[in-house]
Amino acid sequence: MAAIHSSFIPLNSPYLEHTFPNRRKPAKRTKLTIVSVGSDVRNEEVVIVGAGIAGLSTAVSLHRLGVRSLVLEQAESLRSGGTSLTLFKNGWKVLDALGVGDELRSQFLEVQGMVIKTESGRELRSFTFKEVDQTQEVRAVERRTLLDTLAKQLPTGSICFSSKLSKIEKDKDGQTLLQLVNGTQISSKVVIGCDGIRSSVAKWMGFSDPKYVGYCAFRGLGVYPDGQPFEQRVNYVYGQGIRAGYVPVSSTKVYWFVCFNSPSPGPKVTDPLVLKKQTKELIKTWPSELQNIVDATPDDTIIRTPLVDRWLWPGFSPPASLGGAVVVGDAWHPMTPNLGQGACCALEDAVVLAQKLAPALEAGPLAIEDALSSYQNERWPRIFPLTVRANVVGAVLQLENPVVCAVRDNLLVPKLIRLGPMLEHTNFECEPLLQTRV
Ligand SMILES: Cc1cc2nc3c(=O)[nH]c(=O)nc-3n(C[C@H](O)[C@H](O)[C@H](O)COP(=O)(O)OP(=O)(O)OC[C@H]3O[C@@H](n4cnc5c(N)ncnc54)[C@H](O)[C@@H]3O)c2cc1C
Repeated sequence: MAAIHSSFIPLNSPYLEHTFPNRRKPAKRTKLTIVSVGSDVRNEEVVIVGAGIAGLSTAVSLHRLGVRSLVLEQAESLRSGGTSLTLFKNGWKVLDALGVGDELRSQFLEVQGMVIKTESGRELRSFTFKEVDQTQEVRAVERRTLLDTLAKQLPTGSICFSSKLSKIEKDKDGQTLLQLVNGTQISSKVVIGCDGIRSSVAKWMGFSDPKYVGYCAFRGLGVYPDGQPFEQRVNYVYGQGIRAGYVPVSSTKVYWFVCFNSPSPGPKVTDPLVLKKQTKELIKTWPSELQNIVDATPDDTIIRTPLVDRWLWPGFSPPASLGGAVVVGDAWHPMTPNLGQGACCALEDAVVLAQKLAPALEAGPLAIEDALSSYQNERWPRIFPLTVRANVVGAVLQLENPVVCAVRDNLLVPKLIRLGPMLEHTNFECEPLLQTRV
């Protein structure tokens, strides 16, 4: 076992200097524990914590650039359950750069447009995505297929399962020391925290817990072995304090969700029969189509999630990197799913970070620090407004007051909302991943 000695350096030491856009006040001071390590510690250049969308897309981006990384995943395997994610053109551009776009396109239907109705079935608005933006591409992709496809791109042995990070420290050579629950110790030049909304890496860097936004979502994947009967569009229903939707994913699967107001996140419920019953209770007076899709949902794909976000206030939120550690995806910027952008932004983060980090790795710690700061400075202006906008959109859609809902349904949605700006946030230029290392 390694000998561990501790001392402390403050966040604002020259070694840890970061820039942060529009910083008004110094962020909370985070203390780093410095330890010295023994010889039984495994040495790595880049360790990624978490084999979700952020972790795997970062690993694949680095791999395409000639950089090997080790991915640590707490679970025994890639997440096998779960539903689907709607990916817009920004997500597809990244998937193309990673070389997996066409493989995924061949399995998932292109969604042509959206129809929005009231809970009584009255149509408020309908449009096609291409009429809003000729270049738009929307598909709902099964999470498990996305993860499998990304993982397949990595060399054998890149992902270590049953490897839960328990402790993170700085060693005296400037490397980051990771301790896993199974006792393994790893010292790494760079640690990329892709460990989701309850990120241990983000916590160590001084980020607060994400905040519950006042509503939860039931989600599921209806399965139709003989073929699903729906048009290729998102079907959205706006109620009072409840909204729901469904969208065909493939020829046999349909993704659905129901968001409902709840003063607290409530107890964790995993029994699929209870989840189905609670979902159907919420929409029992609505047209039966959605109830039927819930009935067609196998037990392993139905889940209930309290929704959270964390706003990256300039000057208050810690920087995205700290002494060779950096956060990506939900670990950095948990956002509500109201714009369908959480996973899309995790994919964007991955390529941007990899492009900056790969050439810096051989140049030493200062170049790495610059690369991580540059990642943050490029991504923050994209992420912060999106997180806020997603939250505001959710607040409007979850309104309960009947008068305000009537204004939303009779004026705002059918007449006032301009479609063009609605999807502008999906514009993203993805540079090709050109290998710099051999
Ligand atoms: C209801 C809902 C609907 C959504 N719909 C969409 C959508 O339509 N489109 C879209 O783009 N986004 C959507 N999102 C957002 C999207 O799901 C997330 O943004 C995305 O999954 C983030 O990926 P991630 O890899 O950052 O985190 P995660 O997917 O949470 O992955 C984190 C990984 O880290 C692992 N991990 C955690 N802690 C440790 C540890 N200590 N040690 C080792 N491993 C660890 C976890 O096991 C997990 O595998 C939705 C989210 C919700 C809640």
